[in-house]
Amino acid sequence: MSTSQAGYRLHGFPGGLKMRHHKQVSCRQPPAAAEIPERLYIPIGQHQGEVGMLRAEPGERVLKGQALTASEDDFVVPAHASTSGNVAGVVEWPASWPPGSSRRCIELISDARDESVEPNPLPDWHTLDPENIIDHLRSMGLAGLGGAMFPTAAKLRGDWNGIDTLILNGAECEPWISCDEMLMRTRPEAIIEGARILARAVSAGRVLIAIEDPMDEVGAALETIRRENDPDNNIQIVRIPAVYPEGGERQLIQTLTGLEVPHDGLPQDLGLVCHNVATAAAAFDAVETGLALTERLVTVTGPGIAEPRNFSARIGTRIGELVAQAGGYTDQATRLVLGGPMSGIALPTDDIPITKGSNCVLALEADQVSRPHPTLPCINCGACVAVCPAGLLPQLLFKAVAADHDDEAAELNLFDCIECGCCAQVCPSHIPLVDWYRHGKDRLRLKQLDQRRASLAKRRFDARQARLEKAEAERQARRERRRKKLAEPDQAKSEIQAAIERARRKKD
Ligand code: SF4
Ligand code: SF4
Repeated sequence: MSTSQAGYRLHGFPGGLKMRHHKQVSCRQPPAAAEIPERLYIPIGQHQGEVGMLRAEPGERVLKGQALTASEDDFVVPAHASTSGNVAGVVEWPASWPPGSSRRCIELISDARDESVEPNPLPDWHTLDPENIIDHLRSMGLAGLGGAMFPTAAKLRGDWNGIDTLILNGAECEPWISCDEMLMRTRPEAIIEGARILARAVSAGRVLIAIEDPMDEVGAALETIRRENDPDNNIQIVRIPAVYPEGGERQLIQTLTGLEVPHDGLPQDLGLVCHNVATAAAAFDAVETGLALTERLVTVTGPGIAEPRNFSARIGTRIGELVAQAGGYTDQATRLVLGGPMSGIALPTDDIPITKGSNCVLALEADQVSRPHPTLPCINCGACVAVCPAGLLPQLLFKAVAADHDDEAAELNLFDCIECGCCAQVCPSHIPLVDWYRHGKDRLRLKQLDQRRASLAKRRFDARQARLEKAEAERQARRERRRKKLAEPDQAKSEIQAAIERARRKKD
């Protein structure tokens, strides 16, 4: 246990690594507004789960902020036009994961006018019901900007026993990424006001904004705005030690509260809800300025980038176009990664578009990506266990996944792995452990999907069988009733007579 500079009592989490930051590389100049590309590729679904209904026709002219998809479901985040122009159609376009995959995107051809829809602010949010605020944030397309893109409305609305604390995650723990730090430095008022809006949406009485210990400039900027706008002292800025991955949701909660989110539970079960600082700023924009989420800050950095910096980029901008505005690739650029070096995803092409979860484009050079040794067998050294912040047994997980023992991997809590990469970083056998976990999770998800489909199909089959059996039983009962009637002589006679009468009437 330790104490932050503001006197806040901090707790720790198991494992983790001390890392070199490299953040100053992209923080030398303020963020730039990236040029609006001629063509944007806006993914229809930018998060896991269902996607909304298309609301734009090919050839239709749309304005910036206009909803291109719609749904009433909190788990379905609408996509909005990132600029004005014409919808060319829906195309399959390269996606970051799984490798070589594609996803459906709306191709939007910019008309270079960047005309917006009429803003739709919510000026009286201080007095509104939380439900109204959440509805508004959903319609503005808010999703978690920390990377996971979890629908914000679904996280805010729920049948919880009350949320007492909102945690804003500004602990940008992964090396090279600096977009959250730049956002907090340049727009502290958006973070503080966004925090108040999100706190009202969940009726939380307390807000903790977690930043990393070295972020002095950020702490000062936030504190100045907080003093002016938080008369009740409900918001506290807490500096936490820079131990990767302290920005993981569960690790951050444990650091701030000492509480462990249960294996099959949610932070909300503990009366906590956690959002990224960029999501708070997007909530501020949605409520105060009435703008939908159509752009985000992206760090374009690494030794493979000529002029690293942060850009405010429109959703749907191709990564290659952002890199070109950062001076292009250097001769050393060898591998392109979406995200940080620890938990990012290697990209096969820079045609992949920026989504709401794209925080960093990182170009690494050869000696940062080539493995000095080939992958060797696991020697059971236990180094991976010592650094795992989720308290897992990475070597056993790896063996279970590699042997296709999916049930065993599930029992070892594969889904608790946050893909932080600490285990792979220390593994002396250079086993690409996180890649194995990602494949294992994909396989398990597919299996679970298949099982759900199979059980749905079985339910349908059973229901049809029950319907057929019921119809057959009714037919049998009718036949039986008829047979019984005919068995009685008088009854049979009158039945025959009635049939003759009917035939005669028909003939007449
Ligand atoms: S660090 Fe690597 S070699 Fe050591 S136990 Fe873990 S997986 Fe095996
Ligand atoms: S990647 Fe997963 S298994 Fe490896 S250290 Fe991180 S949480 Fe643990």
